[in-house]
Amino acid sequence: MEKDVLMISFSGGRSSAYMTDRILNTRWDGEVVVCFANTGKEAPETLDFVHACDLHWQGKVHWLEYDALTRFREVSYETASRKGEPFEALIDKREYLPNVVWRFCTQDLKIRVIKRFMMSLGHKHWTNAVGIRYDEPARWAKTRAIGERERWDTWLPLVDWRITRPMVLDYWRAMPFDLRLEHYQGNCDLCFLKGRNKVRRLLLEQPELAAWWIRQEEKVGGTFRKGLSVQRFMDLIRTSPALFDYEDPDIECFCNSD
Ligand code: SF4
Repeated sequence: MEKDVLMISFSGGRSSAYMTDRILNTRWDGEVVVCFANTGKEAPETLDFVHACDLHWQGKVHWLEYDALTRFREVSYETASRKGEPFEALIDKREYLPNVVWRFCTQDLKIRVIKRFMMSLGHKHWTNAVGIRYDEPARWAKTRAIGERERWDTWLPLVDWRITRPMVLDYWRAMPFDLRLEHYQGNCDLCFLKGRNKVRRLLLEQPELAAWWIRQEEKVGGTFRKGLSVQRFMDLIRTSPALFDYEDPDIECFCNSD
């Protein structure tokens, strides 16, 4: 592989943190840029983990967010949005909600934010390392396809290294810090790509999470999930807590991180 500029997409999950840690501990002949794109709807524990990783890597992480005027802004652990501000600004600008079919939140809050940041550094082409694992084959082709349309080549180091989820978990068990989240709590808290059983659990445990999503749906007059508003979801599980308590896999996307 050509040793050009390497951009690491650090999602804030354990797998991509493992990937980043291993790359940073390896000699890379070119420049290495580590980017974390914050949507504002990440769990506080994700931001704490990114911060702990950043300290461990001696300040390598660029904390980035969508900005409706300047397209992106660089923030820090201290100044990162925690109330969904970048995500809400995007919805306000588009006057539309992302959904399963049109996932512009992934595109605009993460992929384009990082792309614009890299271009602001003067880079015209780079290699993009993404933390998709060897045991996630359904995600390999889709992730590689994004790079084919863009100005980067996609590299999936965890696939090359045959890294699976148990290996990642073992790694973090041996580290002095870890992500303090369960598998259903990562990414944007009530992401519409999460299985309904995950959202049910989150809403039963943290009903306060619903307010932001309900506000966006009411403002735009639409729903993130076809035919099921967040308010209706809340009302249904309030009256029938066992509803949606069945296996309902997530819909795969660029954001999924555990
Ligand atoms: S985690 Fe879900 S809601 Fe958040 S940016 Fe990704 S697809 Fe959109």
